[in-house]
Amino acid sequence: DNTPRIAVVTGTSSGIGAAVVKGLCAQGHQVLAVDFNAKGKEVAEAAGAAFYQADLSDAESCRGAIDEAVKRFGGVDILINNAGIQHVESIEAFPEAKWRQIIDLMLTAPFLLTQAAWPHMRKRGWGRIVNIASIHAQVASPGKAAYISAKHGLIGLTKTAALEGGEQGITANAICPAYVKTPLVENQIADQAKLNHMDEQEVIEKVMLKNAAIKRLIDPEEVAVLVAYLISDAAGAVTGSSFNIDLGWTAH
Ligand code: NAD
Repeated sequence: DNTPRIAVVTGTSSGIGAAVVKGLCAQGHQVLAVDFNAKGKEVAEAAGAAFYQADLSDAESCRGAIDEAVKRFGGVDILINNAGIQHVESIEAFPEAKWRQIIDLMLTAPFLLTQAAWPHMRKRGWGRIVNIASIHAQVASPGKAAYISAKHGLIGLTKTAALEGGEQGITANAICPAYVKTPLVENQIADQAKLNHMDEQEVIEKVMLKNAAIKRLIDPEEVAVLVAYLISDAAGAVTGSSFNIDLGWTAH
């Protein structure tokens, strides 16, 4: 199960994406890390990955990312859709432009990247798609209409890709984490404090870990380990599934 593969990972300058890139490189895969933040270059190269700077809320940039991997490495075997952002505001006040940006980046981009990578996976009769969704692909919380809608949609895309890929050696699965220790969550604590009229420590304990049986944040590496399994040959029978890493949140 040591065949070196070609992987495209999105949203790699920090957090889960950076941990996934590190893990894939350590396993000997060729990795193209894609991010709109120029800081991603340093992070990618330190892990041994190549870097492509692109704003994935733009359709041409999505296709450009796959083209770059094909030009550089000769194909695409693995696609990890991970880039994401958050915006916390009630539906009543939610800006339409933010809604569209989140849907473009977190639902349309994974679709376009899957579409562009598909012929390359089909040609080899082997492919792995892992969509980093969220526990907010399974349940909702107030103030996150766009994020939750995009993530629920991503599960639909995952299941459809699984059905279409079944005869072609392509699997598609989703990972649904609760709160992971990343800049995305750190930035959110302040917003949540405002929304809930709490201080930041209260947000962590009473909002973020309210439903958690295990009262701690998740490490990005804990997500990367599941990615490593899902892209392996050993996971060839696993497709169309969502895997919660949610500290027991949805056991309620
Ligand atoms: P993060 O902010 O550390 O990483 C997100 C990455 O996406 C960053 O590198 C950022 O530069 C990149 N990005 C943002 N907009 C982009 C764009 N337009 N084009 C290209 N790249 C862009 O956040 P994270 O927590 O590591 O999040 C990664 C994924 O995991 C997201 O999809 C997020 O929804 C999901 N997730 C996170 C948590 C959590 O608690 N942190 C929980 C569940 C799911």
